[in-house]
Amino acid sequence: MTERMISVDPDEADVRSTLQTVGSAHLRSVRHPEKVNRPESPVMRKPPWIRVKAPTSREYQETRRIVRENKLATVCEEAGCPNIGECWAKRHATMMILGSVCTRACAFCNVATGRPDRLDPHEPDNVARAVAELGLEHVVITSVDRDDLEDGGAGQFAKVIRKIRAQSPQTTIEVLTPDFLRKPGALETVVEARPDVFNHNLETVPKLYPEVRPGARYYASLRLLDRAKELDPSLFTKSGLMVGLGETRQDLQQVMDDLRAADVDFLTIGQYLQPTRKHHPVDRFVTPEEFRSYEKMAYGKGFLMVSSSPLTRSSYHAGEDFEKLRAAREARLAAAG
Ligand code: SF4
Repeated sequence: MTERMISVDPDEADVRSTLQTVGSAHLRSVRHPEKVNRPESPVMRKPPWIRVKAPTSREYQETRRIVRENKLATVCEEAGCPNIGECWAKRHATMMILGSVCTRACAFCNVATGRPDRLDPHEPDNVARAVAELGLEHVVITSVDRDDLEDGGAGQFAKVIRKIRAQSPQTTIEVLTPDFLRKPGALETVVEARPDVFNHNLETVPKLYPEVRPGARYYASLRLLDRAKELDPSLFTKSGLMVGLGETRQDLQQVMDDLRAADVDFLTIGQYLQPTRKHHPVDRFVTPEEFRSYEKMAYGKGFLMVSSSPLTRSSYHAGEDFEKLRAAREARLAAAG
């Protein structure tokens, strides 16, 4: 999975997970079958700077209605994202395509895993209709990992991009994709559909991949970002990291250098939060001051844009940030003469 999958309240998420295992009339699937035998890790109490308000606004309800009516999954809900009240009040919902069940089992992620859904041929139309109804100036489209599909779901990404372009030509489109590991031609298919931003999260530092992102390869993800820019140099590329998983400042410096070597434009850094006791434990809560120091460090490495704060997520404020990203590129080009 590609977005940071976290939960507002780990205890609540545990309850939700349990409820999903004890369906009444029907056999329900377990949300995280692969995590059933994992040891439980105590959930650390969140510091005051992580607290968020419960979503209650009228605009939030309206966004929810549009999402439901178009039968869409959103990463905002599947991940239990703490920013949902703020984002949905601004109608900014991040659509999750290719179903709601992931074929990977990352230790940080709250999206359901298991046997994936059948590809919905109506999904591109439904997403495009919702984008138009929400009146989005900028939309982020992400997906579950679909290692079972020959193209990893790249064709569906391309269809969704084209349908949105046809229905909402003014809307800028950001895709947050899986790594398409061992799927030749998948990246090319997505890039040919001409999204405005190509985003793929490295999620964590290389030494933590075996425990945090066991199905992925650090250098394959890095190469994906590098290749996307090679294929279309006008594309903005973006990647995100979670911190508080056990990485050091030196580890982050190395990842920033790797991302700049791959000519990545935009870096997001946010606090990892543990969705349930069965997920990877939080190593520590990074302070807002440290987030600011990471931001400074990243700008020093040459990123066009950096967003670094405890509640930063890949798609958080993505519309406003896209405008800033465009302006930053123009300014840099003008300065270069
Ligand atoms: S930060 Fe992203 S995932 Fe979270 S609510 Fe906002 S749009 Fe959704």
